[in-house]
Amino acid sequence: MATEKHFLAKMENDILDIWDKESTFQQSLNNRSKAPEFTFYDGPPFANGLPHYGHVVQTTIKDSVTRYKTMQGYLVKRRVGWDTHGLPIEYAIEKEHGFKGKQDIVDYGIEKFNQECQDSVFKFKDIWEDLFRRLGRWSDFSQTYTTMDKNYIESVWWVFKTIHDKGLIYNDFRSSPYCPRCATPLSNFELNQGYQDDVSDPSLYVKFKLVDQDAFLLGWTTTPWSLPGNAAIAINKDAVYLYVTITNDNQQKETLILAKDRLSCLNSDNYQIVKEVKGIDLIGLQYQPLFNLKDLSSYPNKDNLYKVWSADFVSIEDGSGVLHVAPAFGEDDLRLGKEQDIPILITIDESGKVKNNLGLPEDFEGKFFKSADSIIIEHLAKEGYVFSAETFKHTYPFCWRCDTPLMYYATNSWLVRVSSLVDKLTANNQLVNWTPPHIKNGRFGKWLENARDWSISRNRFWGAPLPIWITEDGSETIVIGSIEELKQRAVDPLLVNDLHRPYIDNIIIKTDSGKLAKRVNEVFDCWFESGSMPYGQNHYPFENQENFTDIFPADFIAEAIDQTRGWFYTLHVLATALFDKPAYRNVICSGWVVAADGQKLSKRKKNYAPMDEVLDQFGVDTLRFFMANSPIVNGEDVRFSTDLLKEVQRKIFMTLNNSFNFFKLYADIDHFKPSKPLVEPTSSNLLDNWILARLNQTIEEVTKAMDSYRVDKATKPIASLLDDLSNWYIRRSRRRFWKSDDSDDKKDAYETLYYTLLIICQLLAPFSPFLVDYIWRELVARSSIDILSVHLSDWPKSKEYDQNIINNMSQARTYINQGLALRASYKIKVRQPLDKITVPSIPKVYHEIIAEELNVKHVQIGPEIILDSHISDDLKQEGLAREVVRHIQSARKQAQFNVDDRISLLLSSADELMKLTIENKAELINHETLSIGTLSKDSQPDYRTTVKIDGVDLEIAISKNQ
Ligand SMILES: [Zn+2]
Repeated sequence: MATEKHFLAKMENDILDIWDKESTFQQSLNNRSKAPEFTFYDGPPFANGLPHYGHVVQTTIKDSVTRYKTMQGYLVKRRVGWDTHGLPIEYAIEKEHGFKGKQDIVDYGIEKFNQECQDSVFKFKDIWEDLFRRLGRWSDFSQTYTTMDKNYIESVWWVFKTIHDKGLIYNDFRSSPYCPRCATPLSNFELNQGYQDDVSDPSLYVKFKLVDQDAFLLGWTTTPWSLPGNAAIAINKDAVYLYVTITNDNQQKETLILAKDRLSCLNSDNYQIVKEVKGIDLIGLQYQPLFNLKDLSSYPNKDNLYKVWSADFVSIEDGSGVLHVAPAFGEDDLRLGKEQDIPILITIDESGKVKNNLGLPEDFEGKFFKSADSIIIEHLAKEGYVFSAETFKHTYPFCWRCDTPLMYYATNSWLVRVSSLVDKLTANNQLVNWTPPHIKNGRFGKWLENARDWSISRNRFWGAPLPIWITEDGSETIVIGSIEELKQRAVDPLLVNDLHRPYIDNIIIKTDSGKLAKRVNEVFDCWFESGSMPYGQNHYPFENQENFTDIFPADFIAEAIDQTRGWFYTLHVLATALFDKPAYRNVICSGWVVAADGQKLSKRKKNYAPMDEVLDQFGVDTLRFFMANSPIVNGEDVRFSTDLLKEVQRKIFMTLNNSFNFFKLYADIDHFKPSKPLVEPTSSNLLDNWILARLNQTIEEVTKAMDSYRVDKATKPIASLLDDLSNWYIRRSRRRFWKSDDSDDKKDAYETLYYTLLIICQLLAPFSPFLVDYIWRELVARSSIDILSVHLSDWPKSKEYDQNIINNMSQARTYINQGLALRASYKIKVRQPLDKITVPSIPKVYHEIIAEELNVKHVQIGPEIILDSHISDDLKQEGLAREVVRHIQSARKQAQFNVDDRISLLLSSADELMKLTIENKAELINHETLSIGTLSKDSQPDYRTTVKIDGVDLEIAISKNQ
């Protein structure tokens, strides 16, 4: 559905052209070239994906804060960076080719594959740049960095070598979350990105026959595919275990061993307890393996196979209290395996398939691990080893990139010893100002307390290569920290060029002892690369050493709340490891945009309006203000609906635009020029002083909120100021602009409205940068100000203001609302004047406003609000005269007279009361309608109409006075 572009959206496009033409962004930087720096890190997005509403949120936050700080007088550089490495890119290329796994890439050729990855990284760059421009996000595309730049990679190497030299890197054979399709281990925070609910899995009770006793250990597992890799049974040594006899399906009696607290897993009362033992009594018992694997004799520690061990991770909360242990396929399992020197039986290959030639039944071989579950259960059932098999639903992790179910898999991996940094990480976190604040010791702090070692190597292709070279005999490991160092060590330095695979793999280096070393195959986890961004984007320490304090740490960063386990985390870990400092001082975590009904935004369900349409219909100003004024900028979700956008557009931008147009209409007529623009005017008028006080109050509130990184708290006061300006100040001041003479009061009104509009433009500028720049440009054009754009102006400073005037005006408005409610209850129209209202205490200067708004002759002070509802003949006529005025005003409009045109008027009616009214109230009618003469009955008026007032005909004839 194509929508007509709203005039505000069209205006925004004009402003964008002006910014381009005048290089306004560059100018805003040049203006601050000598100013202190406010450091901002822009989290690098992947340019091979399309932007969505989440990016509008990021733009709103990042652009608002950086524009604000610029106006405050700081130099805020805004370099754009792109994440160009890693699984997301590789996976997109694999999909294009229909590759099924890693081997397909090797067969295709790493060189060709990586070239295609590289060619694809900027697939949507133009779309991103266009959107950034359209959203008014000022970013410096002239100094774009990418994580695949040689300089960037060199800095990543420096980071790695530096923390390696601090003893924080180690290689380990460990069980990690592992994607069998991508054939690489993942970090624990990548694991956290892919949990799915309600996944069906088997819950299997298997019987392990003891060697020296006529009894079975009743083991429990939810991963039957791991049973061929079973190497041990674990029990809890402090728990009580029972031997029970039951009758099995073949009507034979058999004895099972399980935890006393887990008898419920038998699902039957039909058992007899034979004896009770302590877990400790079971330790060391031997059982028969479920499968007879070949070649076990090659394991030197084979005697430790198929025994019962005690382990603290055995739960008696679920299962049977008897745990199947497969050291290759579980974190706890591997730990126990290593502690007790139990062989690690790897029965699944790197691509997640059951290995061949292990001695397993032939129909297992080559089966994907998850698909092997049912075959294995079936096989064990036939052998009589299954006690019960059911399915249950639980939360299970999937690969965040390719949606393949993950497994724990024991492989060699390079890790950062994050667990040893926990105290420092926690201490440095205390130096960070978090928005919302509960993230600090909640979501992020808790995550840090339990920080695990970070697996940073990926068995992949398109990424910064690990700079680790190892001699063939494994005796020497060299970590390279710079290109120069690599050239010095390389057997053929001329090969040192493109640092990517496969070229880097061809570089052989010489160790100090003269041995030759080859690079390990792995590349970096792309999160290690993005966590190295403060150094990578500046090619630190190879460049920018002198000004490092200007570039590190960041004064401000912002991303969505999930980055507490992503970018926020990796930045923090690496900065702490390198410098024992936090990488950022202030951080805003944003929440998520959800559909109007609270559901996730879904392309498939089409439960949200497309961005193009929204931008055409509402404009960027509206969309940005909606986000800025919502809880999403404080880590919570926001429901997105076009109804809400409509309201923002009307209440904020139409109101501002109408206020400006009101000013312009009269200022043009009177050729108004401000005497001292950008200096707060002085006035003796109560309304002027009130709106100026409100203005200063708002400056104070917005500044305070922005200084504490609360974008939502900053926008709310602006919204309420705009409402006061339009619905109170301008509405109540209208007549002051109509006066024909150049009175001081009129001048005060102009000066005040002009100044107020200028400051409102400045206050709104960081959040919604377009309409305010349009208005600013129009306003300054009639002054001596040479600041072309509001974005080149200095943030306004709040002056001392009179809180009493704000309180009193608010009190007066409350009385007025109560008076209006009384009028409504008496069913008397506001146009009908009344004699008096009694209100509780309020200073005398407010009486006139109350009297006018309530259309009463007198205001009295009394203990409570009382409206005198008696209508005298004179009041009746005056009320009628007001109706007459209203109809004459509308006749003027119909006749297309200008608001300041003077007219001649003739009113005729047959009704007695109307005649009396016209006669008695002539002065009022003439004054209100700018009529200065009487039309003769015979002349031809410019416009003539007959209207009905209270059922009576009135003929109105008007002509313009030349
Ligand atoms: Zn995967």
